[in-house]
Amino acid sequence: MRILSFISVIFLLASCYKGEHVDIIVHNAQIHVMDDKMTIHEAIAIKDGEIVQVGPEREILNGYSADNVINAEQKDIFPGFHDAHGHIMSLAKQMQNADLTGVRSYSAMLSQLEKFQKENNRKFIIGRGWDHSLWGVKNLPDNTQLNKLFPNIPIALTRVDGHAMLINQAMIDFVGITDTTFVEGGVIVKQDGKLTGIILDNAIDLINDKIPQPGDKDLKEAILKIQNDLFALGITHVHEAGLKQKEFKLFDALAKSNQLKLNTYAMLFPTDENVAFAEKNGHYKNNSLSVRSFKLLVDGSLGSHGACMLSPYSDSLTHGILLESISDIKQVLNTAKSLNYQVNSHCIGDSANRIMLHAIDTLMKDTPDHRWRIEHAQVVHEDDFKYFGTTGAIPSVQPTHATTDYRWAEDHIGASRLKGAYAYRSLQQENGMILFGTDFPVESYNPFATIHAAVNRKNTDNEPIDGFLVDESVDLTTTLKAMTLWSAFGCFEESNVGTLEKGKKATLTILDHKLEVTKEYLPNYAFMTMINGEIVFSMEY
Ligand SMILES: [Zn+2]
Repeated sequence: MRILSFISVIFLLASCYKGEHVDIIVHNAQIHVMDDKMTIHEAIAIKDGEIVQVGPEREILNGYSADNVINAEQKDIFPGFHDAHGHIMSLAKQMQNADLTGVRSYSAMLSQLEKFQKENNRKFIIGRGWDHSLWGVKNLPDNTQLNKLFPNIPIALTRVDGHAMLINQAMIDFVGITDTTFVEGGVIVKQDGKLTGIILDNAIDLINDKIPQPGDKDLKEAILKIQNDLFALGITHVHEAGLKQKEFKLFDALAKSNQLKLNTYAMLFPTDENVAFAEKNGHYKNNSLSVRSFKLLVDGSLGSHGACMLSPYSDSLTHGILLESISDIKQVLNTAKSLNYQVNSHCIGDSANRIMLHAIDTLMKDTPDHRWRIEHAQVVHEDDFKYFGTTGAIPSVQPTHATTDYRWAEDHIGASRLKGAYAYRSLQQENGMILFGTDFPVESYNPFATIHAAVNRKNTDNEPIDGFLVDESVDLTTTLKAMTLWSAFGCFEESNVGTLEKGKKATLTILDHKLEVTKEYLPNYAFMTMINGEIVFSMEY
């Protein structure tokens, strides 16, 4: 006993002298703690995946020792960025198929498809990413040219936003769509009584239910590749905005084997299978993966005139589409309430936003700490902004949507409705918080493009020159909070991540270049990214 205490005294003296031993020290840095005071410290000590201390250079270097001491050479360190709304699964699928992102014309799309088919020789050609607003045309395309070039192979090409699809005649025949096919919450577009090959929203399920899907092995590999690409940009947390149970199982398997290091907050579509999962598992946590929310698609997208508007579009007779009946919406909210699950509702049009805000107002007002989220909140009627304050519904938006859609948004909805569109400053002021994501693969997941879009209201080509609806810009501090602490709150993780305070997880990114906001877009990257103290990306390795 006496020998033991003697040894412990010696050990104590030694540890006082050398400082407490930790796993990692990062020093000579600009550590943005992202606390209320927006403190900046110089050094941080990390042990067992947690932040032991963060403080001035000398305090940390004198107080602690570590085998791994990283001199950050004055680089900026932030809590790892969240993408509060992304689609890893959609991107993983896109990577197996023809990528049509950024194609500049219909004919360029056709050439790309020819090239893809020459290399891959598929029985079905599946593609995603086209955006007709880049082709200098206003109307959605039809399948005339597609039919000429590919008369026999069934083809399905999803628009960049995932809410419209162009299919050729061979696919129409394969699936068995006719003039009289009707889909609740979907549109099969006709012109002069003839199918054009464009289908919207729930009608897309007619195709997806019948075409071959990529194999699990390919999808898993793609997810892990995406994860690494996200780490290289400092992203440590993705809110995966809608999974079917089969898709969720892939993430679950990757999390179980510890291959999924990326913190993944999976929102489940409220299918019977997913509701049964939620009833059985409640709040589910498996290493990096957590589940406690449903994703509810209330309407379509603005770009394909599917977003549900109170009055018709300015350039079309349609009001858009409500994808769920109001009684189904209420049922999902009540199910979620009984399971203490969050509901994250995709609402783009002013009607969709109003329906959901009113439903939350009447059904959920008494629910403590519900954290219901409105995803996109893209066009909000001026009378409805107040509900983001009174109901506590958190706006979860994508600043790069504003700087992509600026080319056609006014044509679609007109100048007066534009005042309530992409209104991030107003939304944040009403609620007190706002969450930022990208909706990738609709937009790039590049967080520095998000910062530029939020602060300067310009895209990475610095367009439009004077910014789009600049009155709705937010400052850099608001932007960073929307990508760190507030997004952590939006997925119930604020006690673990979101700031670099003592006791929280050492989940952070060291940026390669100083984070500055200038008039011109400045690319940036992660120099190093850590999750729970584990270095998951480093430029040096
Ligand atoms: Zn989405």
